[in-house]
Amino acid sequence: MKIYISFDDGPSEGTPEILDILREYNIKAIFFILVQNALKYPKLIRRELKEGHQIGLHGLTHKSFNDMTAWETQEQMEKALRILDAEFGIQPIYYRPSYGTVTLAGHQSAIKNNLKLMMWDVMEKDYRSANPDRKIKYIMKQLLDDKEKVDQILCMHDGFKNKAYGGCTAKILNDILPILINEHKCEFAQFTKDDI
Ligand SMILES: [Zn+2]
Repeated sequence: MKIYISFDDGPSEGTPEILDILREYNIKAIFFILVQNALKYPKLIRRELKEGHQIGLHGLTHKSFNDMTAWETQEQMEKALRILDAEFGIQPIYYRPSYGTVTLAGHQSAIKNNLKLMMWDVMEKDYRSANPDRKIKYIMKQLLDDKEKVDQILCMHDGFKNKAYGGCTAKILNDILPILINEHKCEFAQFTKDDI
């Protein structure tokens, strides 16, 4: 099975630990970033690029498309793309709207800007620290139970404010990756331009 790991909401102070784990297992992921966080942590965006990860757009901020007019939706998306290009030379291929909220205006703006929507198959509340073991079990079950499924997109988060409030993303990764790789022979992959 192929697993595509994605991270939403970053970068943040929690991102380096995630990048270290991905490097240890030689896994390339996609980071759906918030542009306001990218401007706060530009070095982490450069590190993500340098280490072979993809950057996708999550939003200028984490405001939902549901709370924006059609005009604002388009304006925010275009502003986010302009900043990513100017500051980092990034032209994302994929977007994943905040809260996974797909609206008509969001859809139309994405088409206009050549962005492809990437949702997810498996997500848990890794951004909260409670009950990591239960979350690990849930994620493993969701990833592996459906034997027909050959591709799974796993959504995790690296947008913590600081480590003290940092969820349990690193713990989950450290637990599941060796099992997925060694016992279940999962491969980790990135989508290319033509995949979705
Ligand atoms: Zn988000």
